[in-house]
This record gives sequence, C-alpha cells and structure tokens, in this order.
Amino acid sequence: MCGACCYLKPDEREDLDDYLSGEQLSQYMDLVGEDGWCINFDHSRRECRIYNERPRFCRVEPETFWEMYEIDSDQFNDFAIDCCHEQIDSVYGQDAAEMKRYQREVG
Ligand code: SF4
Ligand code: SF4
Repeated sequence: MCGACCYLKPDEREDLDDYLSGEQLSQYMDLVGEDGWCINFDHSRRECRIYNERPRFCRVEPETFWEMYEIDSDQFNDFAIDCCHEQIDSVYGQDAAEMKRYQREVG
C-alpha cells in the first residue's frame, strides 16, 4: 500500500462534510495526527495498524463509494483510480516512485 490516502490533513481534503456523516467526520478528525497523517498508519511498513477494523470511509469498495460519492459499481474502478492518482500526486508528487509504481501496477 502506498499510504497516500492515509494522509488525512483536513485542509487538504475538500468537502469532507459532503460525503461523511457527522459521526464519521468526528471519527475522521480523531484519526488525524499532528503531522497530518493518520495515527494508525505505520510509516515504516506502510500499513494500517487497524486494517481489519479500519473505518468504513477507509474502505475502497463499491458499496462505500456508493454511500459516500454515489458512484455506482460501473464507475467504481475509474473513480477509485482517479482518487488514488490525485492523492498520490498531492502527497508524494507526480514524479515520485510511488506514482510510478502505481501506474505500473494499475495503469
Ligand atoms: S494505492 Fe490508492 S488506495 Fe492504495 S494506499 Fe495508495 S492512494 Fe490509498
Ligand atoms: S485507519 Fe488505517 S486505512 Fe484508515 S486512514 Fe488510518 S491508517 Fe489509513
């Protein structure tokens, strides 16, 4: 996992309250560490420490994307890939190794 989507700094995420409920937004804010990264992100392993119990909004799954963005299953893959590109670009940069790896693996 590249981990870019675990960088949660709220000022760099537009419209959080459009797609998260009040309860989810408060859960989200509780995860934001001082450096903007999720407190559950293990940087050395690039893993989520609570993967099996991670919040619903962390799950890149058709059902969650429908709930949050009203993206149906036909559009899910393209939308998720765009989200990853945007997030990897914003966290690591367009020319970063993380982006190259992602493009190699996903296209
Ligand atoms: S590849 Fe996408 S979903 Fe996976 S960690 Fe990176 S930004 Fe998140
Ligand atoms: S809970 Fe896990 S998957 Fe969700 S943002 Fe934090 S580290 Fe990433």
